[in-house]
Amino acid sequence: SGTLFVVATPIGNLEDITLRALRVLKEVSLIAAEDTRHSRKLLTHFGISTPLVSCHEHNERQRSDQLIERLRNGESIALISDAGTPGISDPGRFLVARCHEEEISVRTVPGPSAVTAALSVAGQQSERFAFEGFLPPRKKARDQLLSDLSHEQRTLVFYEAPHRLAATLEAVARLLGEQREVAVARELTKIHEEFFRGSAGEAAAHFQKERVRGEIVLLVAADKQEREEAPDVKTALQRLAQEGNL
Ligand code: SAM
Repeated sequence: SGTLFVVATPIGNLEDITLRALRVLKEVSLIAAEDTRHSRKLLTHFGISTPLVSCHEHNERQRSDQLIERLRNGESIALISDAGTPGISDPGRFLVARCHEEEISVRTVPGPSAVTAALSVAGQQSERFAFEGFLPPRKKARDQLLSDLSHEQRTLVFYEAPHRLAATLEAVARLLGEQREVAVARELTKIHEEFFRGSAGEAAAHFQKERVRGEIVLLVAADKQEREEAPDVKTALQRLAQEGNL
């Protein structure tokens, strides 16, 4: 059978497409795309005329059957999303899982993803991080999740919509503390790329003032207090043990 190639595409700057992505997108017999009109523009830019079919959250299951059939018949297919890496807050997981079930080979053609792009320039701890994708749209669920994450020891990474940013920053300041460090990465790799770093309080005030546009990754630094307090607990326990009180 053929191979399913999961291909990353740019998150803004078209120069970020990889040479391998271009070759694979040319060579496969079909490209399954989240939005065919959007992706046609990208492909036209690179002179690629491979046929496109849609594969998005509403038809992924039923489309997967057709795509599996073609893969079984020896055709190779590329899966792309509107931007970045398929499967990362984007459709793709279901088709990939089906291919594994059917023992069809799945190969990655890696490239940009907003989560790694933002982390790489944030200057925050990035050896360990927790990617949370999009926060729930409803206030109550969002606040609950933020409270649950308030003592997280890894950098938190969220995808956020521009019209929700100010309210989310206000909630971060309220629930995780005004002093918690945050970073807002906006329009990465694009003309209006912007990076804001500061406390949650400062960020909430800053983004309250202006009408925010574009695509955004929000990073929230780990809970420092916990990290700094942890060795103290250990020292206290050691002292108690030495004193024979444990
Ligand atoms: N699969 C994509 C990836 O690998 O990054 C993410 C898809 S998700 C539907 C789209 C979200 O990613 C946007 O709402 C935004 O939060 C983030 N994003 C995508 N491109 C971005 C960019 N150029 N700058 C900042 N954030 C971006």
